[in-house]
Amino acid sequence: MKYSKSQLLVVWLLFCFLLTLNCISEQEKMTGKFTQFLKEYENKVIPLSKESNLASFEASITGNDSLYKKSEQLQFELSKIFTSKQDFALLKEIRESNTITDPILKRQLEIIYLAYLGKQLDEQKIKKIIEMQTDVEKRYNVFRTVIDGKPYTDNQIEEILQSSTDSKVLEKAWKASKEVGKNVAEDVLKLVFLRNEAARDLGFDNFHTMQLQLSEQDPQEIEKLFDELDNLTHDAFAQVKEEVDRVLAKRYGIITEGMQPWHYQNRFFQEAPKIYSVNLDQFYKDKDIVALTQQYFEGIGLPIDDLIARSDLFEKEGKYQHAYCTDIDREGDVRVVCNVKPNYQWMNTMLHEYGHAVYDKFNDRTMPYTLRGPAHTFTTEAIAMLLGSMASNPYWLRDMLGVPPDQLEKIAQDCFKSLRLETLVFSRWAQVMYHFEKSMYTNPEQDLNKLWWDLVEKYQMIKRPAERDEPDWAAKIHVALYPAYYHNYLMGNILASQFYYTISRQVLRQENVTEQSFTNHPEVGKFLDEKIFKPGARSGWNEMIEQATGEKLTAKYYAMQYVE
Ligand SMILES: [Zn+2]
Repeated sequence: MKYSKSQLLVVWLLFCFLLTLNCISEQEKMTGKFTQFLKEYENKVIPLSKESNLASFEASITGNDSLYKKSEQLQFELSKIFTSKQDFALLKEIRESNTITDPILKRQLEIIYLAYLGKQLDEQKIKKIIEMQTDVEKRYNVFRTVIDGKPYTDNQIEEILQSSTDSKVLEKAWKASKEVGKNVAEDVLKLVFLRNEAARDLGFDNFHTMQLQLSEQDPQEIEKLFDELDNLTHDAFAQVKEEVDRVLAKRYGIITEGMQPWHYQNRFFQEAPKIYSVNLDQFYKDKDIVALTQQYFEGIGLPIDDLIARSDLFEKEGKYQHAYCTDIDREGDVRVVCNVKPNYQWMNTMLHEYGHAVYDKFNDRTMPYTLRGPAHTFTTEAIAMLLGSMASNPYWLRDMLGVPPDQLEKIAQDCFKSLRLETLVFSRWAQVMYHFEKSMYTNPEQDLNKLWWDLVEKYQMIKRPAERDEPDWAAKIHVALYPAYYHNYLMGNILASQFYYTISRQVLRQENVTEQSFTNHPEVGKFLDEKIFKPGARSGWNEMIEQATGEKLTAKYYAMQYVE
C-alpha cells in the first residue's frame, strides 16, 4: 500500500500534535508535582529554620549548655527534612524529566535538589557528625589560652602578639594558643573520616570535592583559579615578606633568619603585621565603632538601625569569641555577633559583618524563600570584604572621621601599602587553608602536622619552628567546623575588587578607583540593592556577576588593585 505525500504529512502532523500534547501534559504534571512539593517543603523548612537560627544565636552569645543542646536538636531536625529518600526520589524524577521551564521554579528545583543530595546519607551518620561538631564547637568556644596559670581570651592573645617585643613572651603566648589544637585534633580527624565516608556513600571522591560540587563550584576550575593566583601573587608577596622580616627583626632585635612564626603579630599570619608607620588603631581608639558603622551604611542608602538593635556586639563571659552574621528568617530579622573594641580590626569586622547583613536585609521578599539568599556564599563575602576594607582606606578616614588633608597626604601611601600587604598576606594564608583541606580530605592518613607546615613554608614563606610536630592545623577553628569553605574568602576578595572597579567607574563615574570610599553616595546602595541583593539566588553566581559588572568572575581587577 502506498500513501500520498499529503497523507503522510497529515499523519506526521497528527503524530507531532499528540507528542506535543503529551509533552504539555507531562510538563503540567511535573510542574504540578513540584509546586505541591514546594508548598509542603516551605511549610516545614521556614518555621524550623527560624527556630534553629534563633537557638543557635542565643547559644553563641551565652555559652549556655542547654541552649547548645536545643540548637543541636533543632539543627538535627532541620537536617532530617533533607534526608527524606522519598522526597529526594521525587525531586530527582522531576529534575530528570527536564520539563520544568519556568526559570524561577527551575532555579528553586536545582538549589533544593542539591541541598537534598548533600543529605542523602545514613541518618545515624548525620546525627553523629552534628553531635561531634557541636561538641568540638563548644570546646573551641570555651577554650582560653593559659599562660603561667592565667587564662587569656583570643583578643588578649592577639594583643600580646601585637604589642610585646620580647621573643620569649611571644613564643610562650603563641605556643600556648596552639594548645586548643591538641585538645580537639583527634576528634577533628574523626570528623574528617566521617565526612569522607558520607561523601563516598553519595558517589563523590571525598568530602572536599563534594562540598565544591554541591555549591555549584567545579573543583578543577577552583584549582585553576588558585594556581593562577599563586603565580600572580608569588613575587609581590616574596617582596613584601622580605620587607616584613626586615622591619620586624629590627623591632625584636634579632637577625631576619631568626624570625619565627610568633614574630608575625598574629596566631596564623593571616593578617598583616603593622610595619608601616601608619597606626590605624590611633584613629579608632576613642571612636564609637558601632555608631560609625551605622552612619556609614545610612549614608550609602542601606540603613541598619533595626539590625543593630537586634545584634549582640560586645564581649561577655562564655560568649563566642569571633564574629558572624545570621539571617534568622529571610524576612528582615538579621543579627550580628561581635566582640567590639575601639580598634581598627573591629572597625573592619563591623563593616564586614554588616556588609553580609545588608545583603540579607535587602533581599527581594516577593521572591520565593529559597531564592532570597545570596547567589553564593562567596558573593556575600565579596560585599562584606569590600565594605570591611574601607576601615583602612584613607579616603574613608577623611570622609567618615574628618582626617584633615595634610594628615591624609601623609598617611595615604602607607594606608595603601597596608591594604596591599593585608591582601597579599591573606591571599597566601588562604592558599594554605585551601591546599591543606584539599589534601587532607584526599588523604587523611598522611602526616597532617607535616603537611600543614610544608604548606605554611611554601605559601606563607615562614619556617617551621625546629622539630615542631604538633597538630597546629587543628588550632584553626575553620578546619574543624567550616570545612571546605575557606577558598570562598579568597574568591570573595577577587570579586570585591571587581565590584570596587565597577562601582567606582560605572556608578560613581570615577577613574581613580582606590580613592573612592562611597561615603554618602546612596547611588552605591541603590546599585548593590538592584544588581546584587535583589536578584538573590535567582541565577547562578557567575551569571549574577556578569549581569552586575559586565564580566564573569575575573582576577584582573584584583591584580590591578594589589599586584601591579
Ligand atoms: Zn564574612
